[in-house]
Amino acid sequence: MSNSIQDVTTQLLMSPKRWLVTGGAGFIGSNIAEFLLTTKQDVTVLDNLSSGHIENVNFLESVAKKHNASFKFVHGDITDYKTCLMATSNMDYISHQAAVGSVPRSIERPLDSHINNVDGTLNIFLAAKESNIKRIVYASSSSVYGDSLELPKQENKIGTPLSPYAITKLINEIYAKNFSQIYQMDTIGLRYFNVFGPRQDPNGAYAAVIPRWIKSLVDNKPVVIFGDGETSRDFCFIKNVVQMNILAATTEDQKAINQVYNVACAEATSLKQLYQIIVTHLSDHYPHVKNLDITYEDFRSGDIRHSLADISKAEELLKYKHTHTISKGMSEYIPWYVKQL
Ligand code: NAD
Repeated sequence: MSNSIQDVTTQLLMSPKRWLVTGGAGFIGSNIAEFLLTTKQDVTVLDNLSSGHIENVNFLESVAKKHNASFKFVHGDITDYKTCLMATSNMDYISHQAAVGSVPRSIERPLDSHINNVDGTLNIFLAAKESNIKRIVYASSSSVYGDSLELPKQENKIGTPLSPYAITKLINEIYAKNFSQIYQMDTIGLRYFNVFGPRQDPNGAYAAVIPRWIKSLVDNKPVVIFGDGETSRDFCFIKNVVQMNILAATTEDQKAINQVYNVACAEATSLKQLYQIIVTHLSDHYPHVKNLDITYEDFRSGDIRHSLADISKAEELLKYKHTHTISKGMSEYIPWYVKQL
């Protein structure tokens, strides 16, 4: 039987475990690590700081101190097998988040995506097997649905990947399934849809749409939409993603293990609607954003037109209940963002 997140949290507090979070200096990994530290778990973060930040590590150190939890940072690379072996030894659970993200980046630099996401993940899986780890939960992506036009996206119906990034995530899933068969490893893959929330990086050419737009608006610059604005996504606040990671790592339901799950809210939001949601929340702090305009540019190659998840598998097998709609998530995220400035 799977337990609710409240039950799991209580159990973790009573009986702390050792967790390795790869990519824990990044956006999603640092939020998972933060939750674990607040529940007094013993957390190690392995990160090469390629897109993650030392400030996130410092923040996690302060959370650990506050909650009297044990925290260790390993500045290392998952493409190095020895580092993976060292980091995985003595762990109870592995939350594997490290990867080179972004579809456009993978189109420009496919080899980087492959080496970090495929070779790196294989190293982590193999090291986990050698270290007899109970369970590995790894980050997959909605990009594996590729050219499938089916909506909403159901886990068992994928198309052909549209980018090197999507290929790397699909290969991860294939390895995970194979490792569960040949080595009896417990693996669970989480296909994140567009995640947003605190500590998502707004900077750089490959920044995700929500922090990039908020930054542009605050800086008094118009937002750029690629396409006609009707492209839609299932935007998912980070707290829902953390919940799924914890449920996946701890479920004891055999039917729930060695599976992949969509992680989303089952809510389609077009880019034009997203813009309005952001402006509504941001204008409480920065009234000038109401006067800015959208600039439209060409569609980007590799982007899928619509993405909407069916989340019933996670609800049924993992007892996932998303706590934050896009609007509720934005009402927590924007004040956090503004406070950082
Ligand atoms: P992020 O860039 O903030 O975090 C990734 C982290 O991995 C960074 O801290 C980076 O320094 C680290 N890293 C990269 N390569 C590494 C390597 N070779 N060795 C060690 N550390 C390495 O990105 P994120 O948004 O937090 O993404 C986390 C995971 O979720 C990734 O696997 C990503 O592909 C996946 N994902 C994210 C989204 C999203 O919307 N953010 C959607 C789908 C999938």
